[in-house]
Formats: sequence, C-alpha cells, structure tokens
Amino acid sequence: MNTSNYIGGKPGVGQGPELSVVDPSTGTVIWTYRSDGQHSVEAALDAAHDAFPEWSRATPAERSGILHRLAAELDTMAEELAQAETAQTGKPIRLSREFDVPGSVDNVAFFAGAARHLDGHAAAEYSADHTSMIRRHPVGVVGSIAPWNYPLQMAVWKVLPAIAAGNTIVLKPAENTPLTTLMLAEACERAGVPAGVVNIVNGTGPDTGESLVTSRRIAMTSFTGSTAVGRHIAGLAAANGTRLHLELGGKAPFVVFDDADLDAAVRGAVAASLINTGQDCTAATRAYVHRSLFSEFVDGVAELMRRVRLGAPLDPDTDQGPLVSFRQRDRVVAMVGRAVRDGARAVTGGRSPGGALSSGAYYEPTLLVGAEQRSEIVQEETFGPVLAALPFDSDSEALRLANDVPFGLAASAWTRDVFRAQEAARSIEAGTVWINDHIPIISEMPHGGMKASGYGKDMSAYSFEEYTQVKHVMSDLTGRAAKPWHTTIYGDL
Ligand code: NAD
Repeated sequence: MNTSNYIGGKPGVGQGPELSVVDPSTGTVIWTYRSDGQHSVEAALDAAHDAFPEWSRATPAERSGILHRLAAELDTMAEELAQAETAQTGKPIRLSREFDVPGSVDNVAFFAGAARHLDGHAAAEYSADHTSMIRRHPVGVVGSIAPWNYPLQMAVWKVLPAIAAGNTIVLKPAENTPLTTLMLAEACERAGVPAGVVNIVNGTGPDTGESLVTSRRIAMTSFTGSTAVGRHIAGLAAANGTRLHLELGGKAPFVVFDDADLDAAVRGAVAASLINTGQDCTAATRAYVHRSLFSEFVDGVAELMRRVRLGAPLDPDTDQGPLVSFRQRDRVVAMVGRAVRDGARAVTGGRSPGGALSSGAYYEPTLLVGAEQRSEIVQEETFGPVLAALPFDSDSEALRLANDVPFGLAASAWTRDVFRAQEAARSIEAGTVWINDHIPIISEMPHGGMKASGYGKDMSAYSFEEYTQVKHVMSDLTGRAAKPWHTTIYGDL
C-alpha cells in the first residue's frame, strides 16, 4: 500500500478506508492509499507540538537557510513534480512545467528571504520613562486544508508563510490530489526541515479535515476551498475560538470598456477563462463588454476558443486537459444545462467532446451569451471552462454589475484610459484587480478575497499577518519602586 501521510519526518501508511487518485483523462486509478483519519491527525499534532519550541526559537537566518535548500531541492525535482501534478489533475503538462512548479519554487524562495524580514516595528519611548518594543510571535501549530486545483502551489502557499514565521503545520491536501504534497514533504526532509515542522495527513474532508479543524490543539485554521465548506469550517473554528484564514471561491468579472484594445481583450478573455480548464478561483467567468464592441468580442472569443486543442495532458501540444474529475465535469454540464434552459445560448462549446476524448472528463471551451445577471451561471462559481458574456451601456453600469455577485476575489478592467482604469481599480470589490491583464500572480504581492471569497492573505509579506501575532513589551526605564503613575492615581500609598 502507498504512503498516506508524512508525520514527524517519516512517511506512513494508513489503516483506514481506501481512497484512490484517478487520472481524469482516462478514468484509470493511478494511486491508492488508506486514510487514517483522526488517528493520523492526532499523531501529526503530537509531532507538530514537539517540533514547535525549537523551530519557533530558531533564528531567522537558520530558518531561511533551510528554506533556501528546500527551494533548491524542489527545483531539482521540477520535472518529476510536473509529471505527478499533471497525472493527478489532468492539467496540461505545459501548465505544470511553466506555471505550477516554477511558481511554487519561486514562492518557497520568496519565503526563504522573507523569513529574515519578520521585524516588529517600534522601539521608542511613547510614555515617559518607558521603552516600548514590538515582538512578532508565531501563532503555534497551524491546521491547514487545501483544494485540488493547484495541489503543489496551494500546499506551498499554506506551508511556507507558516513555517517561515516559526510555526509548525499539519496540512490536509484534497483527497483526490495528495501526490505532490507528499513529494513536498519528502523535499522538506531532504532539505533539513526538522521532523515535525511540516506534517501531511491525507483523507476526506468530513473525516480527516474535520478532525483537524475541530481539534483544540491547533492555534489556527488556514483553509482554501469552496465558500460552502469554508463557512462550515468557520462555524467549527468559532466553537473553539480558533484563529481563521479563509481563501474561498471566486466569480471574477472581466470588464471591457469601449476604448479597450479589443484584440488584447479577446486573447485575455480566452486565456483567463480557460486557465487550468477554468478551475482557477481567479478565472474570468463573466465578461461585461461595452455594447459597441460586444458582437466583435463574442466572435473573436468564440473563434479562439474553437482553436483550443483538447488532448492528453502529457502531450506538450495540448492546450486544455480534462477537468479534475468526472464529478466536476458533470457539475459543469449540469450548470451549463440550467443556463441554457434559462435562456442562455452557447456560441461555442456547451458539451463534452466525443471520439477519443469521451472516456475522459473533458468539456469544450464554452462561451455563453444571453444569460441574465441574476442567473446561476453569472452568480455562482462554475469552476469549468465557461465564460458568460454580457453587454453594458455605461461605465457605472459595468462597475455595478461587476460587483453584483456574492464573491470578491479577483477582477480585471480593459481600457486605454488611465482614469477609467483607476476608477475601476477603486470601485471593484475584489482582492486583486488587474488592468489590461487577468491571471498573473507574483510571490511579492498578496492574494486573498473580499466578501464571500474569504479574508486574510496568501503570498507576500502580508501573509505574515495571518501567521504571527504581535506582542507589546513595555519596559520601565527608571528602576524606581514607586512609579510616577502610582503617585498620580494612589497618592502616597
Ligand atoms: P472543497 O471546499 O470541496 O474542498 C477543499 C478542501 O476542504 C479539501 O481538502 C476537502 O477535503 C476539504 N473539506 C471538504 N469538506 C470538509 C469538511 N467538512 N471539513 C474539513 N475539510 C473539508 O473545494 P475543492 O472543490 O477542493 O476546491 C475548489 C474550491 O476551492 C473552489 O471553490 C475554488 O474557488 C476554491 N479555491 C480558492 C482559492 C483562493 O485562493 N481563494 C484557491 C484555490 C481554490
């Protein structure tokens, strides 16, 4: 039986229910493992608590040195990681090679550097005869849960800021995509991350995930996943008063003003809606296009979408692979079916391909027109290669529609007018607003949502706000037994 967890620096095999990893391009089972549920969670928490005192007191330079070695280790494993990521998710190998793996390595390298800049501010005399100092402390043992869409990147986004700041972590990856997270744990071991600092437990959400987030032995829950599960977890965390960081779903608008570079907007819309087969929380899902450009935009997007090459994930010529699972594909089929029943029309796509691809979880790139703003396909997360295009007549209408959904993760505005761009950046309720682009993320800048997309930040030095707590240390400078404020309040007592 295969490895099912990584606890205290050692791989382990579970005894519980068997779970499978399926290649969604063929439906073939490529890996099975046994989950250990609560048992593995308790063992991982023991290891994380044992490791915390020493790791939290390591100097920034010591932690940084180990994390630099981790970045180098992952870099040497790049091709192996890319192959495994593609095998378990069905994403095109080009995406794994050029985006997921290098992005993860860069994120590790960023936090290796940032570990040495975890300063507290303020060492000054704010009150007479006292010096104040700010210390930043790790929160303790972090319990983290990650989704399946970018398994390695999501694991890195959770693990690195936490351990760079001196915490230890127990991470549960999504049950269908555990492979690259286990490889990350092996890389940690080889890089010299002390045993117990990074622990991986695999299993389902209701079993292993809930055992972790309901434990009174974690100081913090950091969750990335759907809004529904995030809200459930928020309730569980509230019962224990646990600190919480939530990165949830998205429904990004893509706003094309009448002065936009139409060619750039068309290419941008196709790339940003189909990235990772649309299974990206920041993917463009709602294109609001000025009525004067609408038909040209629709024709351009449909034409490019028809040219997208669906195929085997390992073929370097493949532009789009299957969705992550048949379940996810069926969800998209059902949502598009309801959209069409409610009056939308598929200009292209709107179905699963036949022929050789029919045995995989494929779905054609899909452009919908005619959907209503209040309809499910415009309001709810689809997580598939589907873009709905809607026309607008004025800037204020476009910005109102962009904000008229529960989510607030990411958005883009396409215009050549700097004032329009700035107004869009100011008005759109989202954690990231791109101007004349949509999707790029960088380690130096924060990623996180507003509204139903959650709160708190991944990536960048801002993530240290989640994983550290600030302590004020105030020292008397006089050495006198009777402090001046004693006399003020108590007189000669
Ligand atoms: P999901 O919410 O179904 O599952 C996410 C994780 O939660 C998995 O590991 C799962 O096992 C676990 N889980 C499920 N039920 C649980 C429970 N009751 N208790 C504890 N853990 C539980 O989401 P998914 O389908 O894996 O991922 C897709 C979702 O993730 C999308 O909504 C997407 O927008 C979101 N996402 C958000 C971001 C972001 O940065 N905001 C990034 C990536 C993905």
